[in-house]
Amino acid sequence: MTTTPALHSTAQEGNEFLPGPVLLLGAPGVGKGTQAQLLVTKYGIPQISTGDLLRGNIARGTELGLKAKEIMSSGHLVDDEIVNQMVLYRLQEQDTHRGYILDGYPRTLDQAKFLDRTITDPIFLPRLPVIAISIVVSYDQLLQRITGRRTCPTCKHIYNIYSNPPKVVDVCDFDGAALTQRSDDTEPVFVERMKTFDAQTAPVVAHYRDQGRFAEADGNLSMEAVSTAIQQALVDLRRASDLRRASR
Ligand SMILES: [Zn+2]
Repeated sequence: MTTTPALHSTAQEGNEFLPGPVLLLGAPGVGKGTQAQLLVTKYGIPQISTGDLLRGNIARGTELGLKAKEIMSSGHLVDDEIVNQMVLYRLQEQDTHRGYILDGYPRTLDQAKFLDRTITDPIFLPRLPVIAISIVVSYDQLLQRITGRRTCPTCKHIYNIYSNPPKVVDVCDFDGAALTQRSDDTEPVFVERMKTFDAQTAPVVAHYRDQGRFAEADGNLSMEAVSTAIQQALVDLRRASDLRRASR
């Protein structure tokens, strides 16, 4: 009697990790943009941000872009329906076939449910569910990152009075200019921003957590260590998700 080798999986596919759709979450100041770029480089997959999609559609004058422009010029926020459609078009492009990093979408529970339903359609590759990873930085460290920020108006060098101070207080090391602080880099603004962020994000986090597709990465570590933690969380969640699907 002969055994049949598994035809569906070549050795190459077996070795190559398929990242699939990844939603990166994180409050302003946690370094989400930097971490998204590191994942883009590591896995060779695109980053899809709603801000870029909106600007791109408006610039190209697409039907959705024109609608969005009209809504925005009347002082309103672009609704879920338009954002959902922009994402759907984007996800049908070739470069998303191994996965993609979602940034700023899904922002609401409705969007998260919509995306889950939609990407089960066979036209969307890879056929993997969204995994959400939240970069978490302690309140005190985040507060210091933001309220400690100082900028040189001349050479634009950015300092932090706690983690990367100039040699002389409030003076640029390179040109001696007096450093400035952005008017919204203050604790009251930070507290408000955090409240808004937590309120918006909580339902989305709960949705993915309930389905075992959520992890937190410690954002207090170095940039490289945070990236390693995100990649490890992603591999672990994919493996767990594959096992659940296989056992169904
Ligand atoms: Zn300077």
